Amino acid sequence: MSTLRFKVVEEASSRKAIEVKMPAERPEVYYGKHVFNRQKMFEYLPKKTYDALVRAIDNKEPLSREVADDVAEGMKRWAIDNGARHYTHWFQPLTDGTAEKHDAFVEHDGKGGVVEEFKGKLLVQQEPDASSFPSGGIRNTFEARGYSAWDISSPAFIIDHTLCIPTIFISYTGESLDYKTPLLRSLDAVDKAATAVARYFDPKVQHVNSFLGWEQEYFLVDEALYNARPDLVLTGRTLMGHESAKNQQLEDHYFGSIPSRVAAFMLELELESHKLGIPVKTRHNEVAPNQFELAPIFEETNLANDHNMLLMSVISEVARRHNFRVLLHEKPFAGINGSGKHNNWSLGTDQGSMLFSPGKTAEDNLQFIVFVVNVMAAVYRHNALLKASIASATNSHRLGANEAPPAIISIFTGSQLSNVLAALMEGDTEKLASLSGKEGLKLDLPQIPEIMIDNTDRNRTSPFAFTGNRFEFRAVGSSANCACAMIALNSAVAEQLAEFHRKVEKRLGAGEELVTALLEEVRALLRYANDIHFDGNGYSDEWKEEARRRGLDCETSVPLMFDAYLSPSSVKMFTETGVFTADELLARNEIKWEMYTKKIQIEARVLGDLALNHILPVATRYQSVLVDNVLKLHAIFGEEKGAKVSAPDMDTIESISTHIGAIKEQTACMVDARRKANKIESEREKAIAYHDTVEPCMAKIRYHIDKLELIVDNEMWPLPKYRELLFIR
Ligand code: ADP
Ligand code: MG
Repeated sequence: MSTLRFKVVEEASSRKAIEVKMPAERPEVYYGKHVFNRQKMFEYLPKKTYDALVRAIDNKEPLSREVADDVAEGMKRWAIDNGARHYTHWFQPLTDGTAEKHDAFVEHDGKGGVVEEFKGKLLVQQEPDASSFPSGGIRNTFEARGYSAWDISSPAFIIDHTLCIPTIFISYTGESLDYKTPLLRSLDAVDKAATAVARYFDPKVQHVNSFLGWEQEYFLVDEALYNARPDLVLTGRTLMGHESAKNQQLEDHYFGSIPSRVAAFMLELELESHKLGIPVKTRHNEVAPNQFELAPIFEETNLANDHNMLLMSVISEVARRHNFRVLLHEKPFAGINGSGKHNNWSLGTDQGSMLFSPGKTAEDNLQFIVFVVNVMAAVYRHNALLKASIASATNSHRLGANEAPPAIISIFTGSQLSNVLAALMEGDTEKLASLSGKEGLKLDLPQIPEIMIDNTDRNRTSPFAFTGNRFEFRAVGSSANCACAMIALNSAVAEQLAEFHRKVEKRLGAGEELVTALLEEVRALLRYANDIHFDGNGYSDEWKEEARRRGLDCETSVPLMFDAYLSPSSVKMFTETGVFTADELLARNEIKWEMYTKKIQIEARVLGDLALNHILPVATRYQSVLVDNVLKLHAIFGEEKGAKVSAPDMDTIESISTHIGAIKEQTACMVDARRKANKIESEREKAIAYHDTVEPCMAKIRYHIDKLELIVDNEMWPLPKYRELLFIR
């Protein structure tokens, strides 16, 4: 009997909620307590230093060495006052998480003791030995140097008595080895391009910012059950497990009441997040049992992304304190919903105008239309790339499945906006435009009426939806670094806006009126990008057909999706916007393919081990119990009647044999496929081999194991079942 399974199930179900000590103060007192924000800067820095730092942050300028020394001194004092003993550069290498290497503040004082010191040069730049981070061949190990450099736009914070300084991470020769560097470059590109266009409507605009509000979905599992599932521990998802009789079909979990153990965990998570300046606001149950969501108030994209990375580590820590493990994997359980990370994205000017918000006046609405249509064109041109930006070994289990956005990028606009766009596409722009008055733009545009976007006009099946004042990129995976999607999106939109600006300038140069020029270009873009617009059911088979007809990217193999990064149009776009060099693109794709292979490789090994050493022995043991029974029945009833009464057992014995045989055969097949794939030199070809030859065996092995789970004596089954993993009491 599998005593371990029963023990852990009992342990999990007897656990009580852990009480959270709430601070006496309100959030406005403890919010940002662990962050070196402007308020702390003002308190700890000399006035001159504070002014210089704030100016550098606001104007995106570099800091002088003297200012850096003063900032480091003030930052150290604040950190020490708040219990820190160490500092670290905190960066986002091309792995799943963040990286840090801690140093204590201590230095020799020359008298046999120590002083705590922190100099500007250590704040601004460091040289972590970087040879073991993925570099896709950019940095050979003999030249292992990589630099981390302070990103002044993201404030330092304290975690676990360590001062963390957000940094970029680049190679000795300047290539980016992280997510933050290209993200910052893409934000700069979209700032420049969007500012030029936004000035048609408001000449005072100096900068356009990109905003991101992520919604993070995740699962919780009790730690005792988690520890009894080697697949969860090692791969983050269950590689086997028959569906629970009850899962999400009653739709009773979504927005349902939150179990008390989970509520306690969420409370502490929010508390910790707020102390770190992560503005989390919304929490609720998700569709699947044990699935939840957390969303902050949106922020500037670079900061929002740092906050998401930080949250993904904080959430795991806090979960442990509540005897949970958090699963950020996109598809921890087959047969029920997976987890995504909706990226709500928008652009806004430094003059306070949100560029995807329709306004009250015709001018506002023309600006709105111009920006929305440019986004549509960018997404259309780069739909394959945007899909590649969210593709991964883990997210592939979710994309295209019934609950997730399909593996085809299209844009949902909703009926009201669709009508306006259709009218614009047909309309005669000559008649539309009339300029009058000295104040600048004055419009009399019946085709651009007051646009009221009804926020309830939503389509949950769209991977990229317009939701009233923003676009929601929903195909992003729950475990992903949002930067990957945000880099592709902001760069593509930057390229598009720059081209739009060039064309409008040309028209203006030829003496056209501004409004006519804008409308003509908008109409041209609408005609060009019309095929990206789809308001129907993204899950339907008809859409797959239709999308293919429209020429949208329909690739379903992840290693092949990555090719989109190296297509001529992507290389042109990334190099022209200054976000990636061609070499960087090549190197990063090598890493993508390598990561893909490694993830599948690990899963295949774990599955092989579980199949051969956990499942088959138990199935055999149960089978021999049945065999024993058959022999005894024959002994009691004699040959003829014995055969009759033992017939049901004989059936079961046979089907167990069938499944055992299939599992053995498929496991051998999988091992063989792996061996062959491992010999392949090219990372791309290797990843393709893993996708085409290793993964299919895994699916077959799982199928037979799940069948055995239904046959074998419940008391013998070694691994916690879905019904036990999925329902927190
Ligand atoms: P829903 O689940 O209905 O999509 P949520 O409230 O869970 O909505 O999340 C919406 C997210 O979108 C939040 O993070 C919110 O701050 C963010 N958001 C709202 N407006 C904007 C905007 N203009 N730009 C970027 N993000 C936004
Ligand atoms: Mg949403």
